[in-house]
Order: sequence, then C-alpha cells, then structure tokens
Amino acid sequence: MAKMRPGVITLNGFLGDDRRNLFDIIQDDELSLERLGKTTKEIADRMNYFSKASWESFGEEIMVDEHYLVSTDVVRGKLPCPFGHPGIYRKAITTLTNTKNIISIRWTSLNIHLIEAHGFFEGKGSTFRLDPHTLCEAIF
Ligand SMILES: [Zn+2]
Repeated sequence: MAKMRPGVITLNGFLGDDRRNLFDIIQDDELSLERLGKTTKEIADRMNYFSKASWESFGEEIMVDEHYLVSTDVVRGKLPCPFGHPGIYRKAITTLTNTKNIISIRWTSLNIHLIEAHGFFEGKGSTFRLDPHTLCEAIF
C-alpha cells in the first residue's frame, strides 16, 4: 500500500481518503461487479476499445458507436503499476460521455490495467477512482 500513497507514483495517490485496506476495497468492488453481472475483463476490454478508438483524437471528442462521445489525451510520461508489475503505462486520459444517460467518466491507461490485472478501481476519494456501477452505466 505504500506505493499507493500520494506523491509516490502519482501526486494524489490511489487510495484517496478511503479508510478501508486494499483487500477490502478490491473485495467490495468485486461484490458490486457480481451484482452488475460484469467481469473485470469485460470492463477492461470495453475501456480499451474506447481508448483505442479515440487514441488519435488528440483530445478532440469523437462519436463512437452513435452514443459515446470519447476523447483521449496522450500526455508525456509513463506510470508504473503500484502492485509492482514490471510494465509501465502511457499517461493517457480517456474521457467518455454516454449521450443516452449523460454519464461522464474518465480513466487512464493505468486504470485499465489496475482493473484488468488487479480488480482495483482505486480508493474512494482518489482522483481516478472509478465506481463500478457508474462505470458500467457509462460504457455498456
Ligand atoms: Zn499491475
């Protein structure tokens, strides 16, 4: 958990003001996913799909599949996985608005990895926390 604190890998860290430990954060979100009937793989695939579709958009919004307004901003720099994986992840931020329900969310390339490999959606209050319910409403 030390690597997830503010100022170690990212300015604001990954845990926000969440008082739960990492295991509980992951387990609670896993229960939410069960209720939603989605897997981390399905979610990560979907996020990857939108990020790739807008990768060349240079921050301009594009319409994907008729009701998803998506843009991706690729910025300089890379981030390592706080779980200690050898890989590093491009700093890219994807913003998506589902025009049917007007839910807007954003995520980074690292978010996708954290969800897919670790089932980690970040702690409550974290800058890039993705609430599984909101996320699913937006991307499916
Ligand atoms: Zn990892």
